[in-house]
Amino acid sequence: MILLLSTKWWIPIIICLFGTFNCQQKIPAFDGERAFSYLTAQTDFGPRNPGSEGHQKCLDYLIAEFLKTADSVKKQPFTFTDDFIDSTYELTNVIASFNLNPPGARRILLTAHWDTRPFADQDPYPENRSTPILGANDGASGVAVLLEIAAVLKIHPPPVGVDIILFDGEDYGDSKVNDLDYFFLGSRYFTETMGEYRPEYAILLDMVGAKEAQFYIEGYSYDYAPVYVRRIWDKAKGLGFSSFVSEIGPRINDDHWIMNQAGIPSVDIIDINEFDFNYPHWHTIEDTPDKCSPETLALVGTLVLNVIYDY
Ligand SMILES: [Zn+2]
Repeated sequence: MILLLSTKWWIPIIICLFGTFNCQQKIPAFDGERAFSYLTAQTDFGPRNPGSEGHQKCLDYLIAEFLKTADSVKKQPFTFTDDFIDSTYELTNVIASFNLNPPGARRILLTAHWDTRPFADQDPYPENRSTPILGANDGASGVAVLLEIAAVLKIHPPPVGVDIILFDGEDYGDSKVNDLDYFFLGSRYFTETMGEYRPEYAILLDMVGAKEAQFYIEGYSYDYAPVYVRRIWDKAKGLGFSSFVSEIGPRINDDHWIMNQAGIPSVDIIDINEFDFNYPHWHTIEDTPDKCSPETLALVGTLVLNVIYDY
């Protein structure tokens, strides 16, 4: 007996084999090259520290990009006064929302910081240590992944509500005065003013673009949000992403620390090894796009898309 398959049978098989969807889980594809173009679009503005020309230009760019993809885009402006130098800065969080009325009103929050550090205080050469950094990895990479995810969310409506917040003022603080009150300005302002808003959990992407990235489990994430840590690192293992190491690394002060303290379980995906930051160009003038790769952005973006769509 010969089994004849009509074209009706073949079409879904062909889509499964060659389409952008994984057959079982229907996970849309993440475009690492396009994400990398979002990274260089930001670094082309130069340093994006508060008060700089690049900061203003980049803000305009981010709003314009999200207006192409999101269901709702908001600027959340606030001011910050640095008492050490008696200067006041205009800062802005960027908030983009997708799928505003999901079943059960379940929402997840994806975040990154869009500002860059005003001084390369970890630079090996003392003469560079008051120079603003370009922040290809520390700043642009997390934003680049989220801009690409936004483009995917536009085309493939997610099964949950998704909010993306790009925090300003994460990296402002002067580590010489060792005062954490001068860091995480945007996440502090957001959580202090968020009212009843509570997503189920948040993922923070920070330094997610380096060629040799390693993603050990960040310590505070495990302290505050172990269920979501396991979900994310188990998924990475299932995808065969060996740069995600299922061992607990150091605790890093970052925007997720603020969100966790405010009651949002938050996981930081950040380039760390078992001891410290893994990225050798952290807070130096060498944090430039050539140290980053589309492949690493795609790895992180693919993982986050798996978390969103395989809910
Ligand atoms: Zn930084």
